[in-house]
This record gives sequence, structure tokens and C-alpha cells, in this order.
Amino acid sequence: MRQPLARELHDLLERGRDRQLRLAVTGLSRSGKTAFLTSLVNQLRHAGLEARLDLLPAAREGRLLGARRVSQPDLSVPRFPYDGAMAALTTDPPHWPEPTRGISELRLSIRYRPAQRGWWHGDSAQLALDLFDYPGEWLLDLPLLATDYLAWSRAVMDSAGPERQALMAEWQAAAAKLDPAAEANEAELAEIAEHYAKALRAAREAGFADLQPGRFLLPGDLEGAPVLQFFPLPGLADDRERLDALPPDSVYATLAARFRHYQQRIVKPFYRDHFRRFDRQIVLVDVLGALNAGPERFEDLAQALATLMQSFDYGKRSLLSRLFAPRIDRLAIAATKADHVTPEQHPRLTALLEALLAEPLKDLRYADVPVKALSLASIRATEVREVTQAGVRSPALRGTTLDGERVLMFPGEVPNRLPDEAFWARQGFAFTAFRPPQTSGAALPHIRLDAALDWLLGDKLQ
Ligand code: GDP
Repeated sequence: MRQPLARELHDLLERGRDRQLRLAVTGLSRSGKTAFLTSLVNQLRHAGLEARLDLLPAAREGRLLGARRVSQPDLSVPRFPYDGAMAALTTDPPHWPEPTRGISELRLSIRYRPAQRGWWHGDSAQLALDLFDYPGEWLLDLPLLATDYLAWSRAVMDSAGPERQALMAEWQAAAAKLDPAAEANEAELAEIAEHYAKALRAAREAGFADLQPGRFLLPGDLEGAPVLQFFPLPGLADDRERLDALPPDSVYATLAARFRHYQQRIVKPFYRDHFRRFDRQIVLVDVLGALNAGPERFEDLAQALATLMQSFDYGKRSLLSRLFAPRIDRLAIAATKADHVTPEQHPRLTALLEALLAEPLKDLRYADVPVKALSLASIRATEVREVTQAGVRSPALRGTTLDGERVLMFPGEVPNRLPDEAFWARQGFAFTAFRPPQTSGAALPHIRLDAALDWLLGDKLQ
């Protein structure tokens, strides 16, 4: 039995420590958020048992005692469906979990032994880890706050490349018939807005990422709401005075009002109520997927990431700092699905990610936000093998395709800087999607998820 005085002192010391951490996971659709969060929760729940987390000192030193789910503090945010994800991964044959579509949350209570133990020897400490998952598409909307309907309308058409323009043709033909000064017809606007959303969805299906407004792709609970029934008007002249003078029930004024509503009621509240309160953040990027998809998509991913990263630009004069005073004190950027390439390619993958984000990373470092780039696989679906061909030994991957075929392959070399024309001409890279590994509820296999964990929460487990 501990003496009452000792217990009081102990409680006091405990309260003085950092007890809570809000960690957010984001990335564009299919970047691997659901897989990452599922694996993260899985690893921490198996910590101290069979999880392999050697790059996380608290685990390596045997100080990580375990984690359990507890009820989350914010009851209005949906819970991250961990059980459903694990059920998908443990069926026979296993399949990838359904991705989440909006924001979700899960709270873990982590028990660990502090590295520096005092005279209260043997005691453990707790860290409440609040995990959030939200679509990176929502961050593409930040720049909308710095613009207005007229400027946005004009910019959308200017920025689209030929393939994107082709996907927008149907919407553009319908929208071009509208007279900005005519009285708005609700049904007509709803129909053209649906064309616009369809064009965005088609662009996403085709592998494009730089798509606005983000909620048109992932509406969450706003599906069908009038606030999502707007679109840019093509061919607007830069004649703000005349346009602003149009009556409130005109096409132009109606669309401009909806755009403002979207800014104020959709974009701002996300930053104010959620984003601003995150302590740490990891941004996941499917670099290999973009590499697979060719030059226009790769360029588009670069553009989307540049936009997305503006949400982490804490420079004093940045839009974000002026509006929301965020407080993220550490950021990780990870190229996911590294198990699609052989291990000697992993440093090249990280180098390519850094090249892709060179400009935003420079700004971040300038603004003093500690940031780390890495490559990882949340759930490793392949095994490394060696093949000998004409007396030369080289690494290869063994995995099972989504159709259940066992394959042995070398997927190609990852360029360690932005790919040039010669790379695209060679098309030196092709990867197959793999089925997740067979697991029986034990810790999921991963690559460097522990390195990400160390960066994101290692210091809180000291
Ligand atoms: P989200 O839309 O960002 O939540 O992305 P998901 O987590 O659903 O991942 C999209 C797809 O990428 C999955 O269905 C898998 O096919 C693949 N994927 C994600 N993580 C991994 C990984 O670590 N390894 C492999 N081989 N595939 C992955």
C-alpha cells in the first residue's frame, strides 16, 4: 500500500505530465487512411504482446504495456469502424476494409512505463490518444476562403488540362447556356450542379486529385443539400461591378450566394471545430499509384498536394494562421503502400515524396513546423524474395493479386526525383494491387509504421 502523502504527490506529478494527444490522419481518397488507422490501432492494442514495433523506443524497451479503446469525448463525430475493418482483414480470403467517407474518431488509452522512473517505482502512466481520420479532399477547399465566386469561376476553367477539360465537356455545355442575369431556376441549377459533381467524380475515377470543391466528392451528410448545388459559370467576363449589381434571384447572384454559404458554413467550421484542435498530423500520399497512372495524373497529384499543404503553412501571414491560429506541433508525410516495391527502392520512394513536396516542405521548415517524410506500408501484403537470373541475384516480391493468383515479380525502379520524359517514355513502373495478408487477429504485418508512431507520439511515451 502506498502512503497517502506519496499518492498525492504521485497524482500531482501525473497531472503535470502531458496526458492527451490529438492525432489526425489525412490523405486523398485511396491514399491508405483506413488501412493506416486500422493498423495503428491494431499495433498499439498488440503492443507488449506480439506486435513488432522496434523503431518505437517505448515498445523496444518493453515499456509499452498496452492500449484499449475507451469512449471518445466528442459524441457528435462518428466512431472509426475498427471492428468492421478487422473483420474484413480476417475473413477468408481477406479483403481490404471499406474506406471511411467523412471524419471519424477513436480514442485509445495507452498504458506505458515512463523511461525516467522516480521513487514511485513500478508505476505506469496513461496517455489518451484521440485519433481522427478525415478526407484530404476537404483541405483542398482552404484556398476557396481566399477567393470569391467570380475569381473561382474564372480560375477553374483556366487550370484544367486537356484531359480534364474533356471530362467537363457535358457540364460545360449545359452551364454555357445559362444567362448570368436571368432569373434562377432551382431545378435547372440542381441539374447542372449534378453534372458538375459528376465531372468531378469522373475526374477522380480517372486518377485526378486536384478537385474542388472537396465536399462534392465526399459530401458526408450533406448529400443532396442545396449548399452543394453550385458550380463555376464558364465564360464570365471580369466585370465585377456589373455582376454584383445583378438582382438576388439571378443565376449569378444565386450561385455566388451558395458559394459564400459553402465557404462560411462548410469550409470554415471544419477548420474551426476540428482542424484547429489537432496536435499532430500525418498526411498519407499514394505516390506509387500516381506513378503508375502516368504523367498528367502525377502532375495533378503534385498540384493537389501543393494546395493541400497550404493547410499546414503556419507562416504568420498565411491564410490559415490569420483565420484559425492552428497549433499542430509536428507533421509527418508518408508515401504509403511501400510493400508494392522491393526494399532497396524504399529510400528512393521517400526521396521522390520529398521532391514532390519540395516547395511546401521548404515553407513548413521556414515556418518552424517540424516535419518528417517517410515511406511505409500500413499492412504489408507482400514478402521479399530473391531471384537468380543468368547468375545475377536480385530482389523480388511475392504476393497474391486481388483475383487470388500467387505472383513473383519485380515491379520496377522508383525514380528518386521527379520523373522526366524519358521515365514516362520507358514506362518503367507497373504495380499490381495485392490482396491483404492472411492474419488470424494477431498483429498486422507492416513496414515502418513504428517509425511513424515514434515521430508522432514517441516523445509522449518517454
Ligand atoms: P482511404 O481511402 O485513404 O481510406 O484508403 P484505404 O485505406 O481504403 O486504401 C485504399 C486501397 O489501397 C486499399 O483498398 C488497398 O488496396 C490499398 N492499400 C492501402 N494500404 C496498403 C498497404 O499498406 N499495402 C498494400 N499493398 N495496399 C494498401
